[in-house]
Amino acid sequence: MFFFDPLYLLFAAPGLLLAFWAQSRVKVVFAEYSEVGLTRRQTGAQIARNILQRSGLNHVNVERTDSFLGDHYDPQSKVLRLSPKIYDGYSITAAGVAAHEAGHALQDQHNYAPLQLRTNIVPAVQVGGWVGPLMLMAGLFISPVLAWVGVLLFGLTVIFSLVTLPVEFDASKRARQLLSTEGIIVGNEMDGVNKVLNAAALTYVAAAIQAIGQLAYYVFMLMGNSDD
Ligand SMILES: [Zn+2]
Repeated sequence: MFFFDPLYLLFAAPGLLLAFWAQSRVKVVFAEYSEVGLTRRQTGAQIARNILQRSGLNHVNVERTDSFLGDHYDPQSKVLRLSPKIYDGYSITAAGVAAHEAGHALQDQHNYAPLQLRTNIVPAVQVGGWVGPLMLMAGLFISPVLAWVGVLLFGLTVIFSLVTLPVEFDASKRARQLLSTEGIIVGNEMDGVNKVLNAAALTYVAAAIQAIGQLAYYVFMLMGNSDD
């Protein structure tokens, strides 16, 4: 695009606004519950290790990563990485995030289909995410077929963002169950855990809406183009 299309804003605005709100909510809620200590004092790393051991996942390592909000489970190397505040923290936030990441390791153990699908399409999504829009732009000048192939390739990004939703919601569900059955969370501490996990989940919903908005814009633009 050599000019800015104001129509793009119309399609992008809902996702962008929700993403902005979700990001600020994660910051506020995570910070708030980082200050609330657990009655049963355990760090995020201890909680993750306990859950993994109880589930027969002794081979999954729990490591500290320096990147802020870089908490994740790596299904390829079977490593659970936690950021410093989560790894060393004794807080509600640390418990929620650590248990959520352990939930991903449990999904992996049980061959949870959406996680497998998400892991398998990652390479294609990484390519399609930037090659797709390029082919679309080139296609506008060269051929409509090329443009539509570009849209289809970008569609992988949308599929990825949609498959991510059940993966994330399920990991949080497992986290809640584990935290209460293992007696890590007691009393009304679960209210805080819920707020932390829901705030994180909203960022994934926002990402999906952003991807859908972008795809809808591409389709709309191409349909308009073919009418000329
Ligand atoms: Zn997750």
